[in-house]
Amino acid sequence: MKINFNVPPFTGKEYEYIKQAVDAQKICGDGQFTRNCNSWIEENTGCSKALLTTSCTHATELAALLADIKPGDEVIMPSYTFCSTADAFVLRGATVVFVDIRPDTMNMDENLIEDAITEKTRAIVPVHYAGVSCEMDKIMEIASKHGLLVIEDAAQGIMSAYKGKALGAIGDFGCFSFHETKNFSMGEGGAILIKDDSYIEKAEIFREKGTDRSKYYRGQVDKYRWQDFGSSYLPSELNAAYLWAQLEMADIINADRLDSWNHYRDRLSVLESAGKIEWQFIPEYCKHNAHMFYIKLKDVDERTRFIDHMKKNEILTVFHYVPLHSAPAGLKYCRFNGEDRYTTRESERLVRLPMYYGLKPDDIEYICDKVEEFFR
Ligand SMILES: *Cc1c(COP(=O)(O)O)cnc(C)c1O
Repeated sequence: MKINFNVPPFTGKEYEYIKQAVDAQKICGDGQFTRNCNSWIEENTGCSKALLTTSCTHATELAALLADIKPGDEVIMPSYTFCSTADAFVLRGATVVFVDIRPDTMNMDENLIEDAITEKTRAIVPVHYAGVSCEMDKIMEIASKHGLLVIEDAAQGIMSAYKGKALGAIGDFGCFSFHETKNFSMGEGGAILIKDDSYIEKAEIFREKGTDRSKYYRGQVDKYRWQDFGSSYLPSELNAAYLWAQLEMADIINADRLDSWNHYRDRLSVLESAGKIEWQFIPEYCKHNAHMFYIKLKDVDERTRFIDHMKKNEILTVFHYVPLHSAPAGLKYCRFNGEDRYTTRESERLVRLPMYYGLKPDDIEYICDKVEEFFR
């Protein structure tokens, strides 16, 4: 392929920081690089506590543990998301209840949530698709009215905001991903953001195999012991060192992606005005992070031809997600509340164009030439 869909972010400082971790003979979790990353997240989101995790999947599992989700509980989310959003709750024995999305942002339709609430509902899980916020005022209002927790899947939402508030730091818990396909990466990794301080001690224990080792490291106890059930959700310093090289220059990476995003928008606006393609709506009070540049075509047939056309020109474009409610595990563990008006239909029309840190303006020109060629 001449132009890949994704290239993992790399700034050049990664090798040096990994070497520092190796030289310091500190490669397990919760060393200086992890602390740097945690503080960066806290300072940049306004959240009182952030903890790096081994993935966003694990951050969501940790949130489900903290929320004390039990068999029989129900959790509301969109079906148009990655399976990890549902996995975390299915693992706890909960039933996932899907609601339809809005076609303009591909986010869960906030007006359909209340109808999905039953006496078993415990949490709402908004997914900020493409780094564009869900309608958080409405979602927080519904949650507070019904006594529900809000767990934000902000895997794609780092450095995005809703009415001036950082995504991930609005709900009770927020989950970031640092997978290699995300704006900032550590290979595999993520973070949990915790709003209410009363959850911090529990979070540290669940994340450290059920022990109070975090307190021990801080010198608050003289030995650490097994306190509760738990797992191992803390990443190695080697991974944290890689991530730190990017968080340190997060503004530069973010600006570069936004330049690419705006370049696409400018070049393709003729096709959009002509009604050949549609694209995402960004509410004016949402600051986005250019996580994704997608377009929507007429239907699945046109999309298949489009992806083939781009591939012939050595450009990799991809689609996702197959809605969870139609997947084998979705049929087993979940139900869809209300009508699927947009989830399936819109998911079949969407295609993502190459987007990564360092994508060259010339490459964007070439990609857009080929998009235009397809419609001629
Ligand atoms: C990437 C992603 C995840 C999973 O992140 P991992 O860090 O790979 O576990 C979860 N939800 C959404 C919406 C994602 O895009």
